[in-house]
This record gives sequence, structure tokens and C-alpha cells, in this order.
Amino acid sequence: MSNLTRRQDLEPYLTPEQFEFRDSVDKFLTKNSDPSMVRHWDEEKMFPAELVQGAVEQGWFALTLPEEYGGIGDYMDMAAFLEVVGYHNLGLARFWNANVNMVGGAVSRFASEKIKAEVLPDLAAGKCWLAFALSENGSGSDAAALRTKADLANGEFTVNGTKMWITGALQAKYILTAVRTDRDAKKHDGISLVLVPNGSEGLTVSPIDLLGGHAIRTCEVNYQDVRVNEDRMVGDLHVGWKRLLTVLAKERVALSAICVGAAQAACDLAREYAIERRQFDQSIYDFQAISHMLVDMQTQVDAARMMAYRAARLLVSGVPCEAEASQAKYFAADTYVRVATDGLQIMGANGYAMEYAMQRHYRESKLFQIFGGTNQVQRNIVARVLRKKGQ
Ligand SMILES: Cc1cc2nc3c(=O)[nH]c(=O)nc-3n(C[C@H](O)[C@H](O)[C@H](O)COP(=O)(O)OP(=O)(O)OC[C@H]3O[C@@H](n4cnc5c(N)ncnc54)[C@H](O)[C@@H]3O)c2cc1C
Repeated sequence: MSNLTRRQDLEPYLTPEQFEFRDSVDKFLTKNSDPSMVRHWDEEKMFPAELVQGAVEQGWFALTLPEEYGGIGDYMDMAAFLEVVGYHNLGLARFWNANVNMVGGAVSRFASEKIKAEVLPDLAAGKCWLAFALSENGSGSDAAALRTKADLANGEFTVNGTKMWITGALQAKYILTAVRTDRDAKKHDGISLVLVPNGSEGLTVSPIDLLGGHAIRTCEVNYQDVRVNEDRMVGDLHVGWKRLLTVLAKERVALSAICVGAAQAACDLAREYAIERRQFDQSIYDFQAISHMLVDMQTQVDAARMMAYRAARLLVSGVPCEAEASQAKYFAADTYVRVATDGLQIMGANGYAMEYAMQRHYRESKLFQIFGGTNQVQRNIVARVLRKKGQ
């Protein structure tokens, strides 16, 4: 029985079946994604194709999809799953989030029956990868200021523009692209969502070199007169922004669970190292300066975990949880950065060495304060809700 999967503090949240599911995820990833493999994929900037195929065979890419398209499970299963995946392999967790939670979720809720039938069973079967393209050079936090445009004529969109930082675009069969379809409308109106087939004439995908997250490349996607059939639209014309808001809210819950898992991995690594490492004829764990640091790290991860499961529970219950999802996301991301920073300090020079996973946590944790809406933007959301509550 693993401490990671069978935590007693999760008993009020998870069913016996969900604990068993976590055990099976842990077992599979312990075997198929050990730290040396993760290091290899990171250093070689290599997509872990075999691991992803194995995850498909485990049925993980059907999680949270509608039952009629072969799906299974809800957002509580998602949190329970992503925490364990985040512990072992952040790349797989991010890839799952973009494919299933974001684009799969948008298609499930807003696409035509024809598109659902075409995309969702293939997604669950690992035959159709998806990417989500909202951000641009000029519109990051202010995402609704996007300028990529799509003109609709004779049943076809013609798309022009450039999207930035698109996760998994190299593998994607379709890129769900947020486009401006009415240039005269106000900023949040006149936006639509279109599934653009990768490989379309005029579409180019170029990976960007980043500080971390190398196994799942993040890309620039350029659209030059890319023609897309009108039936590839997800949701109605011009109302894409409203649809995007629901996709982004779910992403925050997913990212919080991923960060909790990854932060727990960093804590465990630092604790195990501190107990083993001897200086001045004693384990460095016995220096109070070190053990207190480890205690603070674990306390913060435990608090982040409770916030992540609170947000997931509210999401499943259909209770509005905009603030709780944002709190969970920013607190978990800040916790991961703090834990990775202190964990590296505890490991001294070995923490800074490529041989150990701590340097990767140090690099990758920072990403979570930026993507999925920066932590400043999350605080803005919470501030807005808090003000209303005070009225
Ligand atoms: C590895 C990676 C993967 C990504 N994957 C995707 C993807 O798959 N699809 C996609 O569409 N995008 C993706 N993104 C983009 C990501 O969502 C944006 O980076 C993010 O929204 C922030 O935008 P920006 O980087 O342009 O920062 P900016 O918006 O320029 O912000 C710069 C700074 O100003 C602060 N700031 C901005 N506005 C405010 C405000 N109102 N109040 C307070 N502070 C503010 C920010 O918090 C930040 O500190 C990814 C990014 C990365 C790094």
C-alpha cells in the first residue's frame, strides 16, 4: 500500500474504487516512467510515445469523456488520477490535460454530434491527438484580445494569424483554434472555436526552446490562408469566449492536482536525501534548519492537496467554484516552486546536478505559475469573487 496513493487525508474525498485506480496508475508509472526514463525524455526532447501508448491501453485517455463515446469517470477521478501522474511524469500529465480535459472537454460539451463521433472515440483510442491554441504574441493574460482571424465564406473559414506556446501541437491531428470571426464586435464577442486539421495547407508548427517541459514540446503555430470547412466549428459562431471560460476553469483544477503530485515528489526526494546525507558525523535531517524546512514543505503540499480536492469536489457537484479553482491553482503552483527551491537547497550541489530530478522540478515548477492563467491573473479572479461576497 503506497503512501502516495492511499493517503488517509483523502478518505473523505475518494471511494475505495478511486483508491484502487490510483494504485494501478502508480504501479504502471513506477514501472514505465522511472526517473531515469523521465530524464532521458527531457534531455533528448523526446515525446514519450511508448508510455503514452501504454496509458491509452490503460484506458486513461477515456477518463472524463462522455460515456456514449467510450468515456468513464468524473472530475474527482481526474484529480485522483492527475495527482499520481504528476508525481511520476509531468509531461504525460500536461499532455493528458491539453488533450482530454481541455480540447476533449470542449468537443464533448460544445461540438456537433458528427465531430464528437469523429474525434472522441479516436482520442480515447490514442488515434487522434489534440492541441489547444488560444495564446498569441500580443495576447497572453488578456487572451480575448486575440487577433488570429477567420473569414467565413461559402461554407469555409480562411484562417490567418499566429498562435504561441501551443502544447503538443507537433503530435496533434487537430488544433482547436480560437479565432476572431467578427472584427466589429467587442473584444469578448466575435470569437469562435475551430478545429483546424494539422497538416492543412498554409499551417506550420515550429517547436520553441524552453527552460523545461521538453518531452512535450510547446510550439508556435502559423496560419496562412488555412482553409477549414465550416462544420469543424466547435460551438456556435461568435460565442467562443463563453465556451472558453468553462474550459479554462476545469484546467485550473487539473493543474492544481498535477502540481500537488509533482510537489510531493520533490518533497519525498528531499526528505530521502536529507536522511541519507551525512555531514559533521550526522544525518543532515538532524539539523533542525533542515528538518523544519522539510516540515514546512510537507505542510504546504498537504494544504495545497486539500484545496485541489475541495475544488474538484465542487466542480463535480456543479457548485460554482471559480474562486476555489483559482485558489487551488495558484496555491499549488506557488507551493511547487517553493518546495522545489527549498528541496534543491537541501540537496546542495547534488540538487543542482542533472543526475538528480530536483533540478527538473526547479525548472518545471516555474511553468505552473505562468500557464493556465498566471498566478497574478488567478488572484484577480479570486479578488473579483471576494468583492462580490462582501456586498
Ligand atoms: C510551457 C507553456 C505551455 C503553454 N501551453 C499553452 C497552450 O497549450 N495553449 C495556449 O493557448 N497557451 C499556452 N501557453 C501560454 C500561457 O497560457 C500564457 O503564457 C499565459 O496565459 C500568460 O501569458 P503571457 O506569457 O503572454 O504573459 P503576459 O500576459 O504578458 O503577462 C506578463 C506578466 O504580467 C502579469 N499580468 C498580466 N496581466 C495582468 C493583470 N491583469 N494583473 C496582474 N498581473 C498581470 C502576468 O501575471 C505576468 O507576470 C503556454 C505557456 C507555456 C510557458
